Amino acid sequence: MSILDTGTLQAARQGEAIRFPFDNSYARLPDRFRARLDPTPVAAPRLLKLNTALARRLGLDPAALATPEGVEILAGNRIAEGSEPIAAAYAGHQFGNFVPQLGDGRAILLGEVVAPDGQRFDIQLKGSGRTPFSRGGDGRAAMGPVLREYLVSEAMAALGIPTTRALAAVATGQEVRRETPLPGAVLTRVASSHIRVGTFQFFAARGDVEALRILADHAIARHDPGAANAPNPYRALLEGVVARQASLVASWMLIGFIHGVMNTDNTSISGETIDYGPCAFMDAYDPATVFSSIDQMGRYAYGNQPRIMQWNLARLAEAMLPLIGDSEEAALAAANEALGGFAPAFEATYLAGLRAKIGLPGDSMGDVALAGELLKAMAENGADFTLTFRRLCSAAEDEAADARVRGLFADPAAYDAWAVRWRARLVEAGGDPAARAAAMRAVNPAVIPRNQKVEAALEAAIQRGDLGPFEALLDSLSRPYEDQPGADEPPAPAGAPYITFCGT
Ligand code: AMP
Ligand code: MG
Repeated sequence: MSILDTGTLQAARQGEAIRFPFDNSYARLPDRFRARLDPTPVAAPRLLKLNTALARRLGLDPAALATPEGVEILAGNRIAEGSEPIAAAYAGHQFGNFVPQLGDGRAILLGEVVAPDGQRFDIQLKGSGRTPFSRGGDGRAAMGPVLREYLVSEAMAALGIPTTRALAAVATGQEVRRETPLPGAVLTRVASSHIRVGTFQFFAARGDVEALRILADHAIARHDPGAANAPNPYRALLEGVVARQASLVASWMLIGFIHGVMNTDNTSISGETIDYGPCAFMDAYDPATVFSSIDQMGRYAYGNQPRIMQWNLARLAEAMLPLIGDSEEAALAAANEALGGFAPAFEATYLAGLRAKIGLPGDSMGDVALAGELLKAMAENGADFTLTFRRLCSAAEDEAADARVRGLFADPAAYDAWAVRWRARLVEAGGDPAARAAAMRAVNPAVIPRNQKVEAALEAAIQRGDLGPFEALLDSLSRPYEDQPGADEPPAPAGAPYITFCGT
């Protein structure tokens, strides 16, 4: 066999390896759940970034995905075998106002793959053209927000927080018109599912109880298989969502994450963080922090997130009422009981997390109060959220490291007063200081997606076509619990308040 023959054979094999192990279930649901349509092809697809580790985790061949054929699939220009592209219908409360029809206006679900470990994942293109749900929109996404979602969702995954993932970002070679013309891109998003609170609301608003039941059965199969055996499976599903979302929002709070658009259409039944629009991480600790340009009222401020999540879950319970009780009264009682699970589930994650952050992972309410006093002092003194807790790790094993923590407080004496009480508790709790510091370093990240660094990486990619800073930042964010050069200083004060925009 000649060298040329071998080359031909390899090319053919690569073509075969590009097959996705699709096993689509959402596309099997009745027509009123979705519109069936292909993505709209783009002018000149160019791979910006491929998540090779995630590709392998899904059972996909990253080398095949990086071939021109693979990139065409990721751009929506070619339909992979077994793919049944659909745009899903959903409704939602946006900033408190109910919109009976939203839906995938610029996203297309290519299908579901079953990974080698048996887990099922949606593969969705975001920015893939107009759909019947686009309303006035162009169905496209700009490169900046696509790369931003890539960075932040992958950072969240590395931090250990349930989230959708980014498999790829592809430049379209086309402009999108926002306030100014911007380069366009398509994100390939991976999620355990894209079922939202708003998906239930879509059918509830139409009085379509049959569809609600079909949707709930589908959600149970995917996210709460145990609920199928419960006395009331739909109530058990609701309880599952409440528990997952309570724990999710607690993990956001513990890491200083602000979602920014906690509308019910952006609240997932799977309990994953979804729809990274105007999200950001807090620098200086302030519960009133808001970043989003469209959140004028501060509805989705950092400190409001648990309350808002509870509100969103109440909307889910409302939508599910016809499923969860034989009479209206029984349904209301069951719904309220299920919603009552929020506070204990939130506290279980949040209070344990707070104690762990200060190195006192017992079950003492006194230690929660102690952590609360630190947060209060941080808020009053503009202390950087991430760095205070990270530097505290060293202070837990070496009192001399207090100097690094106190320097983060406008009035360092505010830290000193707290540290005296903290240290007394550490002595009382006992244990090996080095082990305690190590445990604290495993929950208090050294690196988060700092707004200024994210913006700089996006600017280099968009203005200069230089993906170097994006790659470097992504690499750094993939190891958030490691100390890294340059990560141990608070960001320089910005000239103006940091603002994020929704036009993703
Ligand atoms: P979001 O605020 O990003 O969660 O989106 C809210 C709704 O607006 C969803 O139904 C989106 O599909 C839709 N949407 C957002 N941007 C666009 C766009 N550029 N074109 C069409 N629909 C969009
Ligand atoms: Mg959304």
